[in-house]
Amino acid sequence: MVVFNGKGVYGAVAIGKAHVFKRQAAEVRRVSVSDTAAELERFENAKALAAEQLTAIYEKALKEVGETNAEIFEIHIMMLDDEDYNESVQSIIETQSVNAEYAVAVTSDNFAEMFASMDDAYMQARSADVKDISNRLIACLTDRGGSSGASDEKMIVCADDLAPSETVSLDKDKVLAFVTAFGSSNSHTAILARNMNIAAVIGVGEDFLKAAEDGCLVAVDGHTGEVFVDPDEETVKRLEEKQAADIKKKQLLQDLKGKENVTLDGKKVNIYANIGGVGGIGAVLANDAGGIGLFRSEFLYLESEDYPTEEQQFQAYKKVLESMAGKKVIIRTLDIGADKQIDYFKLDKEDNPALGFRAIRICLTRPEIFRTQLRALYRASAFGDLGIMFPMITSVSEVEKCLALCREIREELSADGIRFNEKTELGIMIETPAAAVISDRLAPLVDFFSVGTNDLTQYTLACDRQNAKLEAFVDTHHEAVLRLIEMSAKNAHANNAWIGICGELAADLSLTETFLRMGIDELSVSAPFVLPLREKVRSISLK
Ligand code: PEP
Ligand code: MG
Repeated sequence: MVVFNGKGVYGAVAIGKAHVFKRQAAEVRRVSVSDTAAELERFENAKALAAEQLTAIYEKALKEVGETNAEIFEIHIMMLDDEDYNESVQSIIETQSVNAEYAVAVTSDNFAEMFASMDDAYMQARSADVKDISNRLIACLTDRGGSSGASDEKMIVCADDLAPSETVSLDKDKVLAFVTAFGSSNSHTAILARNMNIAAVIGVGEDFLKAAEDGCLVAVDGHTGEVFVDPDEETVKRLEEKQAADIKKKQLLQDLKGKENVTLDGKKVNIYANIGGVGGIGAVLANDAGGIGLFRSEFLYLESEDYPTEEQQFQAYKKVLESMAGKKVIIRTLDIGADKQIDYFKLDKEDNPALGFRAIRICLTRPEIFRTQLRALYRASAFGDLGIMFPMITSVSEVEKCLALCREIREELSADGIRFNEKTELGIMIETPAAAVISDRLAPLVDFFSVGTNDLTQYTLACDRQNAKLEAFVDTHHEAVLRLIEMSAKNAHANNAWIGICGELAADLSLTETFLRMGIDELSVSAPFVLPLREKVRSISLK
């Protein structure tokens, strides 16, 4: 038995035979051609074929992993038309009189290297996307078709790394788990894995590929990130027990659907879910969340090539509200800047972006963007129970400015005879120490607070949340953070406002009792955490 350690990206256990994923290597030779026009035409035909294949993959992903996760393939389709990429291929064909395969391969290397050398982890991960679409184009040019999938038997797919399109092309019914030697938890592959509900471990190291052979027994523990090649009997038995416990737990959690979020002594709490786009609603409903506690609206902007119009935003918000059928939906206004950059906003590069021009600071400085979003939100408010929430608040005057703008929008809509919900709740995120400390002054102005523990922790402990090196210094249960939450809860309630938590800490079951004792009214978590949290709440007695 050999044990490998990697990063578990989906917590499940699988035991089965290995299928070593063989990519048909894109071996490309440089061939001189006299008819460059014919090569350009071959390139155009290959692009059309690749677009067709990617559309089919997109449709498959849409069904299996939802709209937000499938969008990477829409991006791949768009990348096929990227001007710089195309110009590079065409110019190599024309100036060097070479075959299209070679021109694509050179362009791919150049672009992939350019992305890989960027500082931003997200952009670095795009290097894999360029290679992925280039390999597809080369396969289309050489009539090799797509990459290979798993065999008929249910197998554990073992690979060096998997491109997003390869991950989605795997037939989910035939894959028990997948393990990759490389890969980062920031990659789309890891994100897709989390949404495919199969055990997955990434980054187990190069030696894994030497040990894992087609057909050998492999056991994967997605909880711990351990992978066992040729596991001994004892390990198999132990993991089988773990697997059975997982399945039982999942079944038991299903029984909690439709049940109340109530402690043994009768205290109720709302458990909502967080989403990043319209595509997240399926998971919210499947996990029986009582509402949406945080819709990160910036994803609408991030997915768009230009500022989304009032109508586009209205349609998206309306769809979420209608799908939630009267349940509460809290939409946070645009929170970009820091780690979420959007080209068309043309924001300056900053030395300290987390402490920089972001979120409400951008909206109050560029009111035309803010007004468009607020109009869309108020128009959508007629279709459900909407709450509007402002991020990164640090002062009374910021809140007053937001409220004044909301008032203006309501007046405009009334004057135009456009329907909206007058009682739309307005709230703020408590995610800066300043907001928590002056929460007694802020609470009288709003209907609710929602604590963003991700940022509140980063700013309170002075630890950049993007910096992996600081993990050892971030005590997520730090007394300072907990005191700020408690202080905010007291001040909210003293002013007839309610308070929720929508940062990652809301899903930390070891703090659930603490939060309930503070009087937190709502916890908003990723959809898969709704039922475990409900189970936890139902096991607590506050007496
Ligand atoms: C937070 O800061 O806790 C939060 C929920 O917002 P985001 O993670 O989007 O910054
Ligand atoms: Mg935040």
